[in-house]
Amino acid sequence: MTTAIYPGSFDPITHGHLDIIKRASAMFEEVIVGVYDRPEKQLLFTTEERVQMARQAVAHLGNVQAQSYSGLTVDFAKQVGAKVMVRGLRMSSDFEREFEMAMMNKKLAPDIELVCLMASLEFQFLSSSLLKEVAQLGGCLQNMVPDHVADALRKKFASQLCHPTPKVSTP
Ligand code: ADP
Repeated sequence: MTTAIYPGSFDPITHGHLDIIKRASAMFEEVIVGVYDRPEKQLLFTTEERVQMARQAVAHLGNVQAQSYSGLTVDFAKQVGAKVMVRGLRMSSDFEREFEMAMMNKKLAPDIELVCLMASLEFQFLSSSLLKEVAQLGGCLQNMVPDHVADALRKKFASQLCHPTPKVSTP
């Protein structure tokens, strides 16, 4: 049985990620979506929230599960018995970083193979970061994220709006 991991921040999971997950689930017996606990970038959602959103989004795929991990991605792959790491590639801008990470991972764990799937045309320009900007400005998220993720984004930004910086009292 070939197990593959699909690691990332998933802050939050989008239809672009889900497209890669669906395609990977047709290629491998088991796919584990690895939600990275502490990426360097600043996150909107907690690890628990990101895992829950991912779990709900993949619930209909029988051979896919989602869990969080910390530390090196190659160690997570070994822990779950995965021989393959899946990543998605959009435009050329993803390539350099993915290439760099792939070379480092190969040095750390030569027996783990990287499989890069090209993003589908309709999701080439979809990124979690851009999506958060759109959500914050009240834009429509249709066809970008599942409904439960759109709700979570709306709630997150509404709650942020409910806690404005303290008012400075006017003289
Ligand atoms: P990371 O912080 O590791 O880049 P992301 O959650 O941003 O985590 O992305 C996880 C993986 O999914 C990466 O390989 C990324 O290139 C890929 N990815 C992100 N958005 C899309 C998309 N719209 N279509 C296909 N792959 C994507």
